[in-house]
Amino acid sequence: MREQIDTIPVNEAFLSGDECPFCYLERMAEQKAIRYVLGPGASYMEPDVRGVTDRKGFCGHHFQKMYDYGNALGNALIMQTYYAGLLEELELEARAFQLPDKRPLLGRRKDASDEPILAWAKERQSSCYLCDKLAYNMDRYFTTFFALLKEEEFRARVESGKGFCMRHFVQLMETAHDQLPNAQREWFYPTVIRLMRENMARVKEDIDWFVGMFDYRRAGRGWKSSKDAVSRGMEKLQGLHPADPPYKMDP
Ligand SMILES: [Zn+2]
Ligand SMILES: [Zn+2]
Repeated sequence: MREQIDTIPVNEAFLSGDECPFCYLERMAEQKAIRYVLGPGASYMEPDVRGVTDRKGFCGHHFQKMYDYGNALGNALIMQTYYAGLLEELELEARAFQLPDKRPLLGRRKDASDEPILAWAKERQSSCYLCDKLAYNMDRYFTTFFALLKEEEFRARVESGKGFCMRHFVQLMETAHDQLPNAQREWFYPTVIRLMRENMARVKEDIDWFVGMFDYRRAGRGWKSSKDAVSRGMEKLQGLHPADPPYKMDP
């Protein structure tokens, strides 16, 4: 069963010690997806996969990760057919192009989105194969999380964890709205809110300590747990791992 397969990574995430277990899962899913796209399985040579990447393309964030991963030829092949489709559509848009209406001296002009070539370009720019794949995986992990809450052992694991980053706190509260079992309401909300308060305060203390270390009057005092306060502080707000080295293909 799919749910049972997913419980392993979700349990692992809650034992990982990461500032946010969902960030941990997201990083794992993202690396797996990049490896799937460009790695040794060469999925980019499969026509059905290429059909989807030709349609969806990639966002800037993921192009950077794909570049960093390596496999220059794989990246070039993916872009080659993407460009071919893009150029075909651009050709059609260019042929059908008509000058937009003049800006009226008074009153409002029609919306920019009424200009077909602009609407087309925005549509082209708005999708990403990897973002979609990640969103699908994260939805599954959130569903598994809510299913696991009925186990006392898992709830204890959540209680002793480090809470969540703000970005995933949003997603957690939104998903709870639809998926939280009624029996868990009285446990879930106070626990999650307590975890957020305590752990945000903990990260803030680490940042305070880190800043204090640059004060000469504190010379000789140790870093305590503040050495990586900058990267953890950023993760706790936006759910990223800024100190991660680029994820690269095996040499
Ligand atoms: Zn997170
Ligand atoms: Zn993306």
